[in-house]
Amino acid sequence: LRELVVITGASSGLGLATAVELSKSGKYFVVMAVRDVEKAKKVAKERGMPDGSYVAMKLELANLESVRDFVTNLKAFKAGRPLNHLICNAAVYLPTDPKPQFTDDGFEMSMGVNHLGHFLLVNLLLEDMAKAKNARCCIVGSITGNTNTVGGGLVYPQADLGNLSGLEKGMKQPITMADGKPFFGAKAYKDSKVCNMMTVAELNRRYHKDTGIIFSSMYPGCIAETALFREKRTWFRKLFPLFMKYVTGGYVGEEEAGQRLAQVISDPRCNKSGVYWSWNGGAQTVGRWSPDGKPRGAGGSGGEIFENQQSDAVRNPVVAKKVWEYSKKAVGLS
Ligand code: NDP
Repeated sequence: LRELVVITGASSGLGLATAVELSKSGKYFVVMAVRDVEKAKKVAKERGMPDGSYVAMKLELANLESVRDFVTNLKAFKAGRPLNHLICNAAVYLPTDPKPQFTDDGFEMSMGVNHLGHFLLVNLLLEDMAKAKNARCCIVGSITGNTNTVGGGLVYPQADLGNLSGLEKGMKQPITMADGKPFFGAKAYKDSKVCNMMTVAELNRRYHKDTGIIFSSMYPGCIAETALFREKRTWFRKLFPLFMKYVTGGYVGEEEAGQRLAQVISDPRCNKSGVYWSWNGGAQTVGRWSPDGKPRGAGGSGGEIFENQQSDAVRNPVVAKKVWEYSKKAVGLS
């Protein structure tokens, strides 16, 4: 029997590439948890996902009711079978929005979709995953969590949750940022990704021992061509992949990125909880050129998986605990 894996945002980019990889392996049945079911069905066919290896189900992360409905529908669908794996991958990146957008529940969009929607989803599915053997739960992170890299530490703005006053007050309109400051789209994305990574740390601390679930985060490399960058101007979308390929060496193609995320679910080496996985040949430190003067890391293919070190800010257990408690309240779990 195939193992059941839920992938959010499986209708494009990294999520789709991972769905293709896992469904074609013959070992997994993929639940594509998506906001547009028709789109998911179409791209699944186009990418040759075998019939009987997947289903597309509605999940709108910008609506907490939809998250709850998804969980109810999933339970009905799997009819008592445990959920083996969960990949929280969906995200929005709104760096050029001058004004904030809000979810149906009134959360700023990046924080609402990327963090709070997933936060509720994971919490509602924990019990089901605890019933599976060797269950794995991965929340896709970002380079922003390791400040020792070009993308994480040097590119303005930096993630900074500040005193968490926005999140503490519930993160709802007119609040737009976790630190309670005025809206800044590029930072809101990075803040939400730090919350994702802190959620993994807290899940590991709170539930790994009792449930056996393997919790992890990962940074796939810079997949510079995905729709995540849809807000960026044409020149940026042309040059960014080249910059990432030849200057930072952090570039990775969509298919290979999908193989990386699939690896976190399937590789026996990833049977360890609380880890932030990365691949060498991915994001590099500032030394951009190899001694022979040639650009480093072009292609980034065949990178070896390793346990990456997160920044001190992300590893701060006091802040992570607060993020957990405030998020729980924001989504109505306490
Ligand atoms: P994409 O934009 O291609 O994929 C994002 C997915 O999220 C899409 O399938 C999208 O659905 C879905 N989504 C967006 N909003 C919602 C919502 N409200 N409810 C449900 N689903 C939603 O980007 P990527 O593939 O690049 O991003 C995937 C993950 O990888 C993200 O977590 C991102 O932070 C992370 N990442 C990406 C990097 C990169 O370089 N691209 C680098 C590091 C991390 P739809 O198909 O309908 O648009």
